[in-house]
Amino acid sequence: MKNLFMQIILYYYNQGGEFMEEKTILYIEGDGIGPYIMKPAMKVWDAAFRHIYNEDKKIKWKEILAGKKALKEYGKLLPEETLELLKKYKIGIKGPLETPVGSGYRSLNVAMRQKLDLYACIRPVKYMKGINAPVKSPEDVNIVIFRENTEDVYAGIEWEENSKESNELIKILNEKFGVNLKKSSIGIKPISEFKTKRLMKKAIEYAIENKRKKITIVHKGNIMKYTEGNFRNWCYEVAKEYDLEKYNIKVNDIIADNMFQQLLLNPANFDILVTPNLNGDYLSDAAAAQVGGIGIVPGANIGDEIALFEPTHGTAPGIKEPKMANPTSLILSGVLLFEYMGYRTVAELIQKALEKTIQEGYLTQDLANKKQKSLSAEEFAEKIILNFINI
Ligand code: NAD
Repeated sequence: MKNLFMQIILYYYNQGGEFMEEKTILYIEGDGIGPYIMKPAMKVWDAAFRHIYNEDKKIKWKEILAGKKALKEYGKLLPEETLELLKKYKIGIKGPLETPVGSGYRSLNVAMRQKLDLYACIRPVKYMKGINAPVKSPEDVNIVIFRENTEDVYAGIEWEENSKESNELIKILNEKFGVNLKKSSIGIKPISEFKTKRLMKKAIEYAIENKRKKITIVHKGNIMKYTEGNFRNWCYEVAKEYDLEKYNIKVNDIIADNMFQQLLLNPANFDILVTPNLNGDYLSDAAAAQVGGIGIVPGANIGDEIALFEPTHGTAPGIKEPKMANPTSLILSGVLLFEYMGYRTVAELIQKALEKTIQEGYLTQDLANKKQKSLSAEEFAEKIILNFINI
């Protein structure tokens, strides 16, 4: 009887009760580099959790499949079961998934973001001491990018040149809207008030909660007036709904091409960036490069109900063995996950131990210079774990 009672309590906590004893987190291993980084990252997350909570609280990892592993087991790249489990458990972390260029299937990452309405892609980019960065003052970079995640040309509404759809669409545009288009591939760029405003709200609430002082709206509204121009206008409208002066938060905007040079020349001028989908994609890789590369910058895809964390980088096709892989971006995506779940002490422990490990000169091959000995993903993870006792 007592056992059954305990099981009911644990079940309750597992579904999201405030004082969880055991919480299930879903994970997708990912394609390419995925398996090389997921295993060591998980070792770090588990060890940190045990270090802080001993046996008082637990996390349980439950694998769900997507990408090549899913294709092998289910005959599908993105099985319905995977989406259903994400809707049920509401939290997960994933490795990168491959998307072929020019032909073949559409991006599974984009499909997941759209189907689960993970509308805010949040990418904090901050320099860590000890990393060989390519710019003079990488320590001036400390930004958080809020990238819209579900619309823009990224929505995947496009048709090939000479397809029935593109020919029909061109005919309508030419005949009804006075456009003069020749045969071409066609892509559609939807940007809506609703989706822009909910992203800006998320960015403002994050700024207030994390005591950030400036929000910069990045857009190309001088050229794309009704899509990116309105993105800018709608963001300002949301800003007016808040008493931002009270929090000493300023809002300004900048045209996207200028943003790229300003981030290189005056990175200290920027704090939170709010961007449409495609600009945000480019900008987050460029910003990551400034602090040492995409191998070290984490990411989160967050909706109103579900959150899916993932590294900024892709499957890294050039990396063919674990000794070449850097697990930092995934480990730090786990830090974002623990923060999101309210396990701030676990998140802080991992962040500090990782930074200490890098400062001690332990680096993976993508970051080590010629004189430094590089570590495999597994060895790097072990060094981080050993540093827990020094934090
Ligand atoms: P990539 O991020 O996979 O690799 C770019 C470069 O960075 C490569 O030189 C790679 O060796 C290096 N790199 C990236 N991550 C690294 C790591 N953890 N450790 C060491 N080096 C690392 O970008 P790509 O080559 O343009 O894309 C490859 C595939 O990944 C494509 O199919 C693309 O669609 C996919 N992709 C997926 C995601 C995602 O799942 N969210 C994101 C970006 C790209």
